[in-house]
Amino acid sequence: MKEREDKSVLTEPRCPFCHEFFERPHNVTTDLGFFQGGICPCGAVYACDPTGRNLGEAFVDALTYACKEDWSLAWGLVPDEDYSQNVLNYNRRMHRVLPKRGRANDRVPSGKLIFIKVREGALRG
Ligand SMILES: [Zn+2]
Repeated sequence: MKEREDKSVLTEPRCPFCHEFFERPHNVTTDLGFFQGGICPCGAVYACDPTGRNLGEAFVDALTYACKEDWSLAWGLVPDEDYSQNVLNYNRRMHRVLPKRGRANDRVPSGKLIFIKVREGALRG
């Protein structure tokens, strides 16, 4: 089955780590409040930045949540060594991931979805 070309710019919402479908971001409750995101069965935590401009905030939310809200642990982790991250262009209304290649179509508004997966060993003392 071939998708029609006009739809090919939109891709399925799959986790960049395990390639399973992920759920639409929802409110995830934390000690400090909540963030928009979710947890993939593979252990990756994702946070949504609907504007694409507060990626730092989404990153902190996802990373600290992945560390079970242990901030000192979160700040001590080494990127690419203790955890991996992956940022997707994401349209929340359509629940679709937009391809990175080329420029996102301006008519398809996209926010960002940041995925963080902490290596298991990094969470142990
Ligand atoms: Zn996953």
